[in-house]
This record gives sequence, C-alpha cells and structure tokens, in this order.
Amino acid sequence: MGHVDTGKTKLLDCIRGTNVQEGEAGGITQQIGATYFPAENIRERTKELRADVKLKVPGLLVIDTPGHESFTNLRSRGSGLCDIAVLVVDIMHGLEPQTIESLNLLKMRNTKFIVALNKVRFIMVDRLYGWKTCRNAPIEKAMKQQSKYVKIQFETQLVQIITQFKEQGLNTELNNMDKEMRETYRIVPTSAISGEGIPDLLLVLAKLTEKTMVENLTYRNEVQCTVLEVKVIEGLGTTIDVVLVNGMLHEGDQIVGPIVTSIRALLTPHPMNELRVKGTYQNHRAIKGAQGIKITAPGLEHAIAGAALYVVGPHDDLEEVKETAMGDMKSVLSRIDKSGEGVCIQASTLGSLEALLEFLKTPEVNIPVSGISIGTVHKKDVMKASVMLEKKKEFATILAFDVKVTPEAWKLADDLGVKIFMADIIYHLFDQFKGYINNLKE
Ligand code: GDP
Ligand code: MG
Repeated sequence: MGHVDTGKTKLLDCIRGTNVQEGEAGGITQQIGATYFPAENIRERTKELRADVKLKVPGLLVIDTPGHESFTNLRSRGSGLCDIAVLVVDIMHGLEPQTIESLNLLKMRNTKFIVALNKVRFIMVDRLYGWKTCRNAPIEKAMKQQSKYVKIQFETQLVQIITQFKEQGLNTELNNMDKEMRETYRIVPTSAISGEGIPDLLLVLAKLTEKTMVENLTYRNEVQCTVLEVKVIEGLGTTIDVVLVNGMLHEGDQIVGPIVTSIRALLTPHPMNELRVKGTYQNHRAIKGAQGIKITAPGLEHAIAGAALYVVGPHDDLEEVKETAMGDMKSVLSRIDKSGEGVCIQASTLGSLEALLEFLKTPEVNIPVSGISIGTVHKKDVMKASVMLEKKKEFATILAFDVKVTPEAWKLADDLGVKIFMADIIYHLFDQFKGYINNLKE
C-alpha cells in the first residue's frame, strides 16, 4: 500500500525481474493483480544476510494495489484478505495523504505492516556526491559504500519520517536484523531501481510471517475470495480479478457476489518465462488458493470491486448465499444516518466507500450521509441527492470519491442546484465541502 508513485509496482518488478534474469530457483510467478514468492526463493534472496529463514508456508502471495484505485477493505467479513502489509513511502516525500489514509486503515483493521522507505538511491543521485550502486545488496552493505555526505542525507530524511510517523501515533525504527521483532514498526530502506535493501525487505516479511502468522495458518476448504477489480478486456467482455485466499474454484461454479452467475473461465497469466505474448492467459479447470485469478462469466458488469465472492455448493441454498453476500453491503448501509438528512456519497469500490463513510463519521469531520452508491455518478444519483434541496440545501451534495460523473449528470446537477465534489483523495472532498458550507454561511 502507499501513496501513488512511491514505487509499489516497481518494487515488485524489481523482485520479479532479478529473479528472471538470474534464473534463480523456485520461480516467482506473476498472477492477476498479485505475485507469488515461493519460500525457496525468499531463502535464496536472503542468503547474503545469513538468515535462517524458517518459512512454514509454501510462499507469500503479494497483492499490488494498482494506481490510486482504493483497495481498502483489507478484511471483509473475517476473510483475512491481507495478513501483512508493506507500506511504501518515498524517502523524499515522506508521509503523503494516501500514506496516511493507508495507515489509518491498517490501524483500524489492526494489520501488521512494515515500511519500505523507497527510492533511497534517487535522492542521492540528485546531489553532488552520488549514491554508489550495489545491485541487490543488503542495505547495510550498500550503506557502507556510501560517502559521509550521503549517509547524513539519509539520516536527515529518516529522522523526519520517523517524526511524521510519531505524529500519526506510531513508533517506527530503522530495521536492524540483529534485533528481536518488537512492537515497533520497522523501516526498511529500499531501491526499486537497483535492488538495494530488497533482501532485507524479504527477510523482514518472512520473519514477521513466522512470528505473527504461523498459528493462524491453516488451509480451509471453505472458499474465501474477494473481488479486486471489475475490468473490461477485449475479447473477454467484463471480467473480474479476484484474490482466492482459501478453497477451490471450478469452471462452471455458481458464484454470488452480489450478482449471481456461473464461472465461464478461470484465467491466470502464463508463467514468467513464457510471458512474451501479451494478452494471453492460461485456462484452468480448477484453481486452489491462494491465487490471483481473472474470472470470465456473464453479467459481471454488475459485480462490485471490494465485495466478497461466494460459491454455491451442492448442498447450499442459493437464497441463503445471496443473503450472506448482501451482508457486506448491509454492514456498510447500517452506518448511514437513519434520520435521512445528509449528503450522498459515491465511490469506486465497496472498500473505498467504507473508508469514506468511516472518515466522514469521525468527530472532527462529522458529515451525515443519507445515501451511498458505487461507480460512476449518473442522472439518477443526482435525482436522489436533489431530495435534500427541500430539507437541507447544503446536503443536496454528492461527494464523489475516485469515480467519474457523466456529462448528463453534471447538467442535471447544474439545473437542479445539486453540488458535486470530486476527488481521489478523501481529505480533498472534506476540504471542498467545508469550503462550500462556509461560503453558504457567509
Ligand atoms: P506506484 O504508483 O507506487 O506503483 O509507483 P511505481 O512503481 O509506478 O513507480 C513510480 C515511479 O517512480 C516510476 O517512474 C518508477 O520508475 C519510479 N521509482 C520507483 N521506485 C524507485 C526507486 O527506488 N528509485 C527511483 N529512482 N525511482 C523509482
Ligand atoms: Mg503501481
């Protein structure tokens, strides 16, 4: 997780890339929206740290959070989608709005995480005394090669960032491999370009897994699956990218989430070394978790990113499964002001909607909500918001978080006097709305 452009994807690229180039054992595989690091590979990559990695799991499934698409409900309905997080921070930028947003989510869900302080190389190169590249080296070794000036620069940035974390109520410290894992949060400096610090990052991940998860790890047959993205793919129509945490999916399985349909195809990318032809996928009859998978099926345009996906088993009652699937929506709906006075909010995914609701409820913000919706703002959403014009004019407002607004909706809003505020950072919505209210008062 982390702010846009901090290097989340690049870090994964770096780990995958070197793996391919160096032809190491136990190939890392790229999946849909996810990357699989086999334990063997982690052991290999951390060798230089003389670490005794005892990963009791076959590997780690790492999920990238693409762009600013909010991937926020990390744990939906007890299905632990994400057990550990890596919060990526740009060493030059420090904590940015979405870093803080991510932090708050991690705190809220009580998810363990480590901080990757990325782009260590970048800043130094811009200065006179360049950073000396030590490709894929542990950070301590790389640091030893640096000039005093570089080290001072690094320290200065680090101290600032630790202070910023403290302001957020978190104790962080620079990672030290010799120290026991304690209750502080570890900062691991990395460069996604030349790979310094990557061994450290992998080792800390492995250690944290050993320490916090071993008791919790059991393979269950029950399907735990979450929709990451709803995407139109040429030739395939609307598809969903899912993370299957537990259980098995089969071609033809009836799925609910919250639409009801049957799986037409289960797709994954070809293994790395074959991934030369773009846009081709491997078909599977059945797939076992944990995996990132693309699913094709009729009617997926109504699927909701962030929602859990359920499979209707031979002994299950469809109506009951539908009821459970609606549970996710209901838990969100239950947080809406029942008095019926409030703004309308609209977001790209169930998760981001949840996050926005949570934020608006905090005492410092305290904006009541009367309606919610997922996806693009259409005319009907404007109509819904316009109901407030007679009750409380300032609430005839739509806060659109990370979604588009159709031209027809804009026009109607103009005609009716409904306000629409758009942003892809939650705080900006608040600022805009606050500005509007203050204007009205004057
Ligand atoms: P994301 O939005 O967090 O996934 O960020 P990306 O991985 O797309 O990276 C954003 C930009 O930062 C790209 O241009 C990367 O090449 C660059 N970048 C990422 N990591 C590093 C790094 O460690 N050093 C330098 N110099 N640039 C980096
Ligand atoms: Mg990215």
